[in-house]
Amino acid sequence: MQDMLTLLKQHFGYTEFRHNQRAIIENIMAGEDTVVLMPTGGGKSICYQLPALALKGVTIVVSPLIALMKDQVDALLQNGIEAAYLNSTLNTREQHFVYNQLRDGHIKLLYVAPERLIGGDGKFLEYLSGCNISLIAIDEAHCISQWGHDFRPEYLALGQLKTQFPGVPIIALTATADQLTRKDIIEKLALKRYKLFENSFNRPNINYYVRPKKQYFSHLVPYLKSKGDDSGIIYCLSRASTETLADDLRAEGIAAEAYHAGLNRQVREERQERFLKDDIRIMVATIAFGMGINKSNVRFVVHVDLPKNIEGYYQETGRAGRDGLPSEALLYYSAGDVFKLKNMTTIDGNRAQSDIMLKKLDQMAGLCETRVCRRKYLLNYFDEEAPEYCGKCDRCLQKDLKVEGTIPVQKLLSAVFRLQGRFGINYVIDFLRGSSTVKHEHSAIKTFGIGKEYNKKEWREIIREVLHQGYLQQSQGEYPVLMLTPASEEVLFKNAKVMLACLAEFALYKKSRKEIPAASTGKVQAGIGTLPGSTWVEPSQIVPLHQELLQSLKALRKEFAVKENVPPYLVFSDATLQELATFLPLTSSHIAQISGFGEHKLAKYGDAFLEEVQDYCLKNHLSTQVHAKAGKEPPATKRKSSQGPNASTQQSWQMFNDGHRVARIAQERGITESTVYNHLGNYVRSGELDVNQIMPPMKVRDALNLLQTKGMLPLKSMRDALGNQYSYDELKLVQLHFLWLQEQY
Ligand code: ADP
Ligand code: ZN
Repeated sequence: MQDMLTLLKQHFGYTEFRHNQRAIIENIMAGEDTVVLMPTGGGKSICYQLPALALKGVTIVVSPLIALMKDQVDALLQNGIEAAYLNSTLNTREQHFVYNQLRDGHIKLLYVAPERLIGGDGKFLEYLSGCNISLIAIDEAHCISQWGHDFRPEYLALGQLKTQFPGVPIIALTATADQLTRKDIIEKLALKRYKLFENSFNRPNINYYVRPKKQYFSHLVPYLKSKGDDSGIIYCLSRASTETLADDLRAEGIAAEAYHAGLNRQVREERQERFLKDDIRIMVATIAFGMGINKSNVRFVVHVDLPKNIEGYYQETGRAGRDGLPSEALLYYSAGDVFKLKNMTTIDGNRAQSDIMLKKLDQMAGLCETRVCRRKYLLNYFDEEAPEYCGKCDRCLQKDLKVEGTIPVQKLLSAVFRLQGRFGINYVIDFLRGSSTVKHEHSAIKTFGIGKEYNKKEWREIIREVLHQGYLQQSQGEYPVLMLTPASEEVLFKNAKVMLACLAEFALYKKSRKEIPAASTGKVQAGIGTLPGSTWVEPSQIVPLHQELLQSLKALRKEFAVKENVPPYLVFSDATLQELATFLPLTSSHIAQISGFGEHKLAKYGDAFLEEVQDYCLKNHLSTQVHAKAGKEPPATKRKSSQGPNASTQQSWQMFNDGHRVARIAQERGITESTVYNHLGNYVRSGELDVNQIMPPMKVRDALNLLQTKGMLPLKSMRDALGNQYSYDELKLVQLHFLWLQEQY
């Protein structure tokens, strides 16, 4: 298989196989049939594209979506691979050209629609029999099954292929197929000796969030604004609402356009094209949009209305993050939507069908209302086991998540103390918020109005939790008053810490309301700045992403895209640009190490992108970080871990595992806390230690969110963006956690 890896690097510029690509390719090369279940963005195409290059002859790819064919062929041509498609969009002359190319053996991959392959009285099949066919790939294979959600009758005819080309291996690929559909695919295609390769449905780079739909617009606008120039899709139920929402967003200065089946074809195509080319940042669409969208850099998908079933939700949210970079799925939920959809999903005269649809709708609502991890719920729905905690959905982030609330609780308790335990909840809140309804004598008290940072509703929740935790009590009777308890004194006078879950929830909601300041400037330094007194061991491992450079690389990519009339993501994916702006290749041998630079793209674009990076580095006195990239490759990683952490590091780790806190470890060992954090950082980096165990999860989340939006940042910029409540030790840990996370896909 070494030569397959060479081919992968040579043609696609990738250095490793993903998921079970390697095993799948081996199976094909052994001449056997293959069924592949891999989630969107998993890398299905490589599974047949690479064998197509390795085998003699032409690979036929059956694909149902005309728009997708062009995209795929363009992507191959971009990599210098001879590919073509045959479908109704080509005129006769163009078709003849393809036939000639085919005859002369100049095509390695030919994309065709099923009706083209089978139709025309079998003429085309006959023609193909005269060609040397190496492999037949059937994309979106679930379309062959009535049980699938996307049945296409013309797929049924593909059953002939096995008899017509008995010696040619077939590979069937799909992102969604339940057991029934799988069985159907195998039967209908008449596969005999086949292997089935199944991957998890999990999309680890997508974070899932559900928010209340009430007044969602005031949440959505800042959310979208915080996304910079990232592109995304917003799904609405009705055509009319896509138009209104797009208008409303434009009025807020957000570049959005509507898309739905009611627009005339020309407008639709034009808008889709502009979206693909990054000229429209946000598409507000009905579910008519997205079927043929291969755009790899969709960073977020928002549902303003509830999808009708989980299959749809999964498919729509799945359009985010095909490039493997962190992406988000956000859904605004209201129980009213369920009610509305219930009325719409009942089909008159078809009780059985209606029941199935209603059940699916209930399961969709269940996803929104569940208290468990959203990812777990999703995966379980697809009959897949999943851990209780994913750490990347709103439920996990809230769960048992408590934030230190000592200060607000002290304010609350001192208010109760000052008011001498004679007033009820509402009055105490008014007092805290400095309301004019408070008695004159009370407004003179020094602590009057010290709690304006929370609104009434929030204070009510804080009080509820504080009551629950026993730091306050309520009297009996018609007008219950708030009173201190013995435990209150611990907080008021002895500085005992109080942790509150409700604060975590507020912050989660507020997070996207508050704009994160642009942290990176042109003055970023490579590597993390070594802080005085800190003994950070592996600074070379932390390499910041240079935002300014990334922007100019994007501009350069756009230039090429316009010149060649292809979408920017086909020139290079966002992932490739991020690598460039992180590892700063300065020579052509450096740039060849960047993922996405195969031989063809290297020759075509290498110099231009290299120059851009060189200029930037010269201007900012930066040196290359390419050596740090080598550290990401498996052999190097192995070497590193076999050396293992030193004895002192191991000792801290041991003590931590024995249940000692950082402060205690430092004290007992006579070293600084920073050094201990430093030691533990090694394990965070390797994924053995969950960073949430050493610092408040809430803090982790906000800091991580910053890195996920902005890419790796220097400590200073992180601190500027997040505030002084973060220590540099904590920020470093989050950086390490982020690096580990990035390798997980
Ligand atoms: P799918 O068809 O499963 O949705 P694609 O085949 O379009 O996924 O692949 C998704 C993205 O991942 C593409 O940008 C592709 O080039 C990239 N990719 C595929 N395999 C690899 C790999 N081994 N290493 C890095 N990137 C890969
Ligand atoms: Zn989760």
